[in-house]
Amino acid sequence: MTVVQKYGGTSVGSVERLRNVARRVAARAVDGEQIAVVVSAMGKTTDELLTLAREVNPRPPRRETDLLMATGEMVSSALLAMALVEMGCPAVALTGAQAGVFTDNTFGRARIRGIDTWRIEEEFAEGHVVVVAGFQGQSPQGDYATLGRGGSDTSAVALGAALKARQVEIYTDVQGIYTTDPRIEPQARCLRDIASEEMLEAAQQGAGVMHPRAVELGLLYDIPILVASSQAEFGSGGGTLIRGKVHMEPENRVRTIALDRDVASVTLRNVPDRPGIASQLFGPLADAGISVDTIVQNASELQLTDLTFTVTKDDWERTQEISKSLSAELGAANVLFDHDLVKVSLIGTGMQSGPGYAATMFRSLSDAGINIELITTSEIRITCLVRADRGEEAVRALHSAFQLDEDI
Ligand code: ADP
Ligand code: ASP
Ligand code: MG
Repeated sequence: MTVVQKYGGTSVGSVERLRNVARRVAARAVDGEQIAVVVSAMGKTTDELLTLAREVNPRPPRRETDLLMATGEMVSSALLAMALVEMGCPAVALTGAQAGVFTDNTFGRARIRGIDTWRIEEEFAEGHVVVVAGFQGQSPQGDYATLGRGGSDTSAVALGAALKARQVEIYTDVQGIYTTDPRIEPQARCLRDIASEEMLEAAQQGAGVMHPRAVELGLLYDIPILVASSQAEFGSGGGTLIRGKVHMEPENRVRTIALDRDVASVTLRNVPDRPGIASQLFGPLADAGISVDTIVQNASELQLTDLTFTVTKDDWERTQEISKSLSAELGAANVLFDHDLVKVSLIGTGMQSGPGYAATMFRSLSDAGINIELITTSEIRITCLVRADRGEEAVRALHSAFQLDEDI
């Protein structure tokens, strides 16, 4: 059987930690399983490389940024393979390209188009553990392309699908998936399991513990993903299983609360309320590769309406340029920009069948004196945008209002 394991940046952040990972991998390898290990760059390497790039050029070209960032994972994969060999466990390190990971050419947020596993299979046949540099692949032109921040999770699940692994194991610096980020709420509890659908929504709404596309691939290919601590003993039963179906009716219908700090909003004031306005605005944004998240259009008064939407901070500058230049054309009175917001989301499939969640959410935010700037929902989520400096407080208030800190 094949197992794919992934170790995140903190877990490979020093030589000592790399050795700890090597010991864990070597212990699993003697069980006769074929093991592919995906690694992130050591510690804060990716941030440091980005800082370096911006020192040289405040707007570094995307292709070269990807080439630079991809080196982080090459370093950690080469070192891990060396540590394994030193322990007497035969291993090879492969870059994403050498491992057969093919992507499209959208640098910085490339998507995996396919994985050709022949090289990995060949190494397995030789009895090697294969260590793969995460977060990267090869574009159609043969360039290095990276998958977006946190993308090593996606490398791992994609490899799991391609190698028909029975499970993908994501090892990180917390015990698993919690009722909210334990760094924000120390009372947060680690969940035994969570439905892929819920985890996908949480990841998309800022729960940084998993890359959203990794969850999506797990769902698509029906591969269970175990998220656990890189310090915990394997087989100790710890960690959270992300899987298609969670069998039991959830006791608490709110499963997790996510905080997304990567939000900026744009409001066009007094836009004429006539057909075609939305497409005139969102068409050019889409053409520029900007994905728009929340969109809210107010009820119109005197044939004029306000249109608000959010984008990620990365896209904000370009969004400003485009919306400023379009606002005159659209006949808007003015455009307002705000990057001092965060999104707080309640997530749970069980909320579909129970009333009152939104009311409780709004009441507990109001009790805490936190103003709601915008509200959006999906079938399994309620999101409020609040001022950035109140975000963590909002998470804690909701965590306690929905009794997520209580043992069930
Ligand atoms: P890695 O480097 O292993 O990929 P990340 O930093 O990407 O680790 O993800 C782990 C972090 O995610 C945790 O340290 C935690 O602060 C944060 N996090 C956010 N939301 C959650 C959640 N619901 N459950 C667990 N961790 C969460
Ligand atoms: N090293 C990359 C990052 O910091 C990818 C990852 O860690 O998953 O975003
Ligand atoms: Mg991560």
